[in-house]
Amino acid sequence: MSPRRLLPEGARRGWCPSLARPMPTGDGLLARIHPPLGRLTPSQLRAVADGARAHGNGHIDVTARGNLQIRGVSEASAPRLACALAEAGLGDTRDDGGPQRLTLTAPLAGLDPAEQIDVPALARAVEIAGRAVPRLPAKTLVAIDGRGAHGLGAVEADFFLFAEGPGQVAFGLTGESGPLRCGLLPERQAAGALGLALMAFAEIGGRRMRDLDPHQRAVIAAVAGFFPFEPTPLAPAPAPATPGLTALSGETSALLVQAPFGRCTASRLEQMAHLAEGAEVRLSAERGFALVASSRRAAALQAELARAGFIVAPGDPRRRVAACPGAPACRSGTTPVPDHAAQLAQALAPLAGLDVSARITVHVSGCAKGCAHPGPADLTLVGREGAYDVVLAGSPSAEPATRLAFEAALDRIRKAAAAGLPALDPVFQDDVPG
Ligand code: SF4
Repeated sequence: MSPRRLLPEGARRGWCPSLARPMPTGDGLLARIHPPLGRLTPSQLRAVADGARAHGNGHIDVTARGNLQIRGVSEASAPRLACALAEAGLGDTRDDGGPQRLTLTAPLAGLDPAEQIDVPALARAVEIAGRAVPRLPAKTLVAIDGRGAHGLGAVEADFFLFAEGPGQVAFGLTGESGPLRCGLLPERQAAGALGLALMAFAEIGGRRMRDLDPHQRAVIAAVAGFFPFEPTPLAPAPAPATPGLTALSGETSALLVQAPFGRCTASRLEQMAHLAEGAEVRLSAERGFALVASSRRAAALQAELARAGFIVAPGDPRRRVAACPGAPACRSGTTPVPDHAAQLAQALAPLAGLDVSARITVHVSGCAKGCAHPGPADLTLVGREGAYDVVLAGSPSAEPATRLAFEAALDRIRKAAAAGLPALDPVFQDDVPG
């Protein structure tokens, strides 16, 4: 039997939506906003909230690439949303179907005194180089990290520019089993070499670097100046900063917050914009925000944003659960996914002492598309006709081990948490056919 199940009507894999090219989903069109370098002002945050309310379904997602998206947009409202956001300085950056935002950097890039290269300057140069490359695949991603105190952690990108000593950059690309280090470059040459590699990548025509064969990768590395191609594993970037306060230089601090399940309402985003007035706002790949302000102000913001429902502490159990909008926001869903995810997170709270806070252990998905977390989780509940297919250590489209009403699944997780079990699957094993 095939382990994959059918995706809902309207679902698309591989589409990279923008404002001009919103993507059809189960809940209408999805429009994605790509703030340059992942930074935006409080008034731009307000424009996003207004746009979601006026032209979408009033909810905003923060994506795993640190972008924002609005769901529930219609054919009629999409152009109006694009216009409003362009006026706010958040419009698309290219109209040829290429990547709207090519680079991913850590939210504290440029503020971390331990960084060994000027990450924002390099990211700007790479964005400019990328815009000059026609036919660049829409999902192309370049991860740039300065190896400061906090970084991007393990990240799935096509190309990597990671500091390796002051002013030195290791050039990497994705291989079959992870990032490969091609060689070392002076920082001032990194954007140029990457631009050449992007041209070769576009010319070859693969959608992602991982789709290419070793010979094609060797060609790209050679074009970038690395010949012969003798790659070694690329060391991962430092782990990302966790929610909470991080002291920066002088009297400045950054407050890292996450949106529960990567999602917030327009009103909640507006509240953040209001509270963050005067602070700098950056998006993070942990589906959240970094607010940079005076240390005193940042501490006050932490309490206020906790009251507004954001995740402001590393041990918050909602960090372990991924969830999509579900029903009724998405027509492909038949269960109230965020409510159920919040209950599951609460049930997991007794396990807070276990070292699992940095990864997703539970995924509640409204259907097999798995918008919130397409990869595997320890436990995935996939909504279908009002109940859940239960997938153990698999992705949402994998064959389920059993099928349960939500209350029954919750009851089992509560029992596992009360017993302090380090893994969740034993409580579902009874249902697994032998
Ligand atoms: S996974 Fe969730 S948001 Fe995505 S299509 Fe299915 S129900 Fe909708």
